Amino acid sequence: MIFDLNSATDDIIGSQKFDVCICGAGVAGITLALNLSGKLSVLLLEAGGFDFSAESQAIYEGETVGRDFYELTAGRLRYFGGTSNHWGGDCRPLDSYDFERKNYLRFSGWPITRSDLNPYLDQAESILDLPENMAWNKPVGFIEETINSSRDFVTANLGISAPTRFGQKYRDDIQQRANITCLINANVTELLLSEDLATLDHLEVRGYGGQVFQARAACFVLACGAIENARLLLNSNQQTPQGLGNQHDLVGRFFADHLFAQAGEVILEDNVVGRIGDSPFGDTFKGRLKQQICKFGWTREAAERYRGRRFCLSDTRHGFAPSQQFMEQDQLLNFGIRLALRAPGHEHETDGIIVLCSEQAPNPSSRVSLATAIDQFGMNKAKLDWQLSDIDLRTMQMAVFRFGEVFAELGLGRVRVRDWLLADPLEFTSGPGHHHMGTTRMAASPEYGVVDASQKIFGTDNLYVAGSSVFTTGGYANPTLTIVQMTLRLAEHINSRPLPKI
Ligand SMILES: Cc1cc2nc3c(=O)[nH]c(=O)nc-3n(C[C@H](O)[C@H](O)[C@H](O)COP(=O)(O)OP(=O)(O)OC[C@H]3O[C@@H](n4cnc5c(N)ncnc54)[C@H](O)[C@@H]3O)c2cc1C
Repeated sequence: MIFDLNSATDDIIGSQKFDVCICGAGVAGITLALNLSGKLSVLLLEAGGFDFSAESQAIYEGETVGRDFYELTAGRLRYFGGTSNHWGGDCRPLDSYDFERKNYLRFSGWPITRSDLNPYLDQAESILDLPENMAWNKPVGFIEETINSSRDFVTANLGISAPTRFGQKYRDDIQQRANITCLINANVTELLLSEDLATLDHLEVRGYGGQVFQARAACFVLACGAIENARLLLNSNQQTPQGLGNQHDLVGRFFADHLFAQAGEVILEDNVVGRIGDSPFGDTFKGRLKQQICKFGWTREAAERYRGRRFCLSDTRHGFAPSQQFMEQDQLLNFGIRLALRAPGHEHETDGIIVLCSEQAPNPSSRVSLATAIDQFGMNKAKLDWQLSDIDLRTMQMAVFRFGEVFAELGLGRVRVRDWLLADPLEFTSGPGHHHMGTTRMAASPEYGVVDASQKIFGTDNLYVAGSSVFTTGGYANPTLTIVQMTLRLAEHINSRPLPKI
């Protein structure tokens, strides 16, 4: 059942104790609730209503210092369905290499491997309405096959989700599940421990009309997005002054995003132009931007920026990533290169553009902390200090330089590198990708991370975190498919273990 705290007249949950309480009904929260409710009783707390409201969104306001970043209200949505209400739908699983420890990259290496997530891939694809039998690494068309034959690049395709809006698609399901109690307009404002300081006892929950109550469960999961998961833990500082789970000062650190940029133009050899006809053409990029136009934020600006520009004509699902050998030899991060080609017969100076999406190295100085300003519930707002590292910039530069060389060596054409990549010193001025990650990172031990391999916060018995805040490193793949895979794995973990005694 779903109840609206805004119109609730009596105490909806009273002293009821649930098996699991989930904070946040976005991608991770909804996936988790549906996959726990077969066996367990679930309380799902969502801060917003069924639609956008300025009142709820204002709680996402925060401060940005450090590198230029979008306003903190722009890259996330605070209502039922979460940020899936305007995500783009591009999907790709992380590569095996993303999970490995690299001797040239400090803080790299997950405590799990890609094979731990593989069993959940099919179900995650279906949850996200991806086409069946996705061929993630199969080259399609002449250019893709040719580049795939090189030593340094491999084919890396994207799957395009509907894009699935979790609030719309799964609302009826949540409503009908006997084992789920969902409260909307219910803001989790503090996490309170029992006397032993190891067990989470209850959450403080507040409504917009001044209602306050406690939510109790055997087990709790934070699924509020990477900035908010950290903000909630840091704000829960009554019993542990440094914030909950923050005994090693790691909550909020290692904030990462993906680095998106237009990185060059391509001019194809004449004989190649004739061989790209098989690739599906269409104004895909512009089409998808149109779907994303929403009530505020970057999408409106982006739509304005791209209005009338027809540079992006090919199907950009088919792209490339570096081979492991290339990354290791040049000590690079992972990245994706997409070619957006114009249809044959166009009248432009070049045949298309290169779009780069690059990984950001784990960097403890890049962090979410608490601002001094407070929100309407008395919680300190988030302060984001986004920072890059030298290897981030070097990776972007090497990615495009080498891609240009390979393009020419294979007789496909020439790449004209964008000026910003040739500048000395190199400066990245394009934007991050709205893929917030890393603020409660997973690690093998508490000195290096906030959650363990099962996504449980170190030092607690019954508090888990879901979503990309637990990513140890981010690869370059869009995060949501991995979020869903990891959430299914977390559901299996919680379902298969005895619940902590409370
Ligand atoms: C414009 C845009 C385009 C994107 N495109 C892509 C893409 O193409 N591919 C991709 O993989 N990813 C994309 N993303 C990222 C994707 O949207 C996120 O990875 C995904 O939504 C994260 O899921 P989540 O459940 O962790 O967080 P969210 O979906 O943000 O859900 C968090 C939920 O928690 C609730 N909440 C927050 N605070 C509280 C609180 N205190 N109490 C109770 N509830 C709370 C929120 O209201 C929200 O419902 C895009 C993002 C943006 C902004």
